[in-house]
Amino acid sequence: MIKFPFYTRRAALVLTSMVSILLLTCARTKVHHPMTESEILAFHQSILTIDTHVDTPLRLKYEGIDLSQRHDPHEYNSKLDFPRMDEGGLDAVFFAVWTPQGARTDSGHSAIKQKALDILDLVESTISKLPQSAEIVARSGDASRLQSMGKHAIYLGMENGYPLGTDIENVDLFYNRGIRYITLCHMTNNELCDSSNDTTEFGGLSPFGLDVVKRMNHLGMMIDISHTSEATVEQTVAASTAPVIASHSCSRAMCDNARNLSDSLLTLIATKGGVVQMCLLSDYITPDPPQDARDSARAALSKKWKNIDRQPVANREAYRLEWSELNRNFPRELPSVADAVDHIDHMVKIVGIDHVGIGTDFDGGAALSDCFDVSELPNITKELFNRGYSKTDIQKIWSGNLLRVFSQVEQLATSH
Ligand SMILES: [Zn+2]
Repeated sequence: MIKFPFYTRRAALVLTSMVSILLLTCARTKVHHPMTESEILAFHQSILTIDTHVDTPLRLKYEGIDLSQRHDPHEYNSKLDFPRMDEGGLDAVFFAVWTPQGARTDSGHSAIKQKALDILDLVESTISKLPQSAEIVARSGDASRLQSMGKHAIYLGMENGYPLGTDIENVDLFYNRGIRYITLCHMTNNELCDSSNDTTEFGGLSPFGLDVVKRMNHLGMMIDISHTSEATVEQTVAASTAPVIASHSCSRAMCDNARNLSDSLLTLIATKGGVVQMCLLSDYITPDPPQDARDSARAALSKKWKNIDRQPVANREAYRLEWSELNRNFPRELPSVADAVDHIDHMVKIVGIDHVGIGTDFDGGAALSDCFDVSELPNITKELFNRGYSKTDIQKIWSGNLLRVFSQVEQLATSH
């Protein structure tokens, strides 16, 4: 063994440490190699993507949109069809069976239940005519099974528990028709709970709403707290034996809107293992900037349809069409993908990467300047890469987190 003098050994040690630090620094900086545009697109196309909230049944019902044809979203009031899902690398969606809140009477409940069943019939007959493109599915594993077959998975969700009326057996009825989540309410209170946009009536869930939560747990349906009041969210998370979802909700800290979730609600949902699916509806992403012509048109519409939330269903539907028309005539300045991803950043900062996903609300009013319909969804993936999200993170946001919750809800079901 050759003995080096002490100073030589010390010098060698210092030199070795310096080389190691240098190598480590190089390795660290070298890891971040920016992906090219085509690499990002290829990645986006390769992963499983799920959008948990689109109102496409409305476009089928009112505009007779043919999902097999490509539509120009500036010409038609349509943000989703199969050619554009292919372009945008969108594999699976939850079609929302939305119903407007109307009279909470026996006749109101039975009429709206029939309407919800009619929408389900329409969706079923539409998809059954396009067997090469899509299938209606109901299990968490179906999305990836269909993706490998080059087909789109169409899941069914119910937005507003109004069609349940006050009859718990309706939960089973809609589960058997394929509904896999129920958004407990919409913009006004119903027999289940208080809404985020209405007055306090039950102080959260009603006794019937609590029964619905338990029944949904039993059957293996996801409970969707989007649109519900803060107290409803708290009581639902506490009552549910399974994690809950927000199928289309943004962050209140980023945009102060009653529909958005505060940091404490985000934390509550995440603590129970749930997931919040960020929505692309402008007013939930950035505050609506004032615009004289539109503001007076809105004021005139509100005057014409005074107390619309308390009016018959037909009036609400007419109002909704006029509201869409107004927004087409006086478009607001749309937020960008960067504004939307600010919400993801914030939610990830508060609850971590495992509790955030995407539920666009396309066909229900959602639009961004650079993500105007489903064909432009890869722009979200691009923005996430630009901000340093890893491939694993992005896969979690696009489907991993939602599927984790969905399969847990199935496993925790006690009905089988
Ligand atoms: Zn909604």
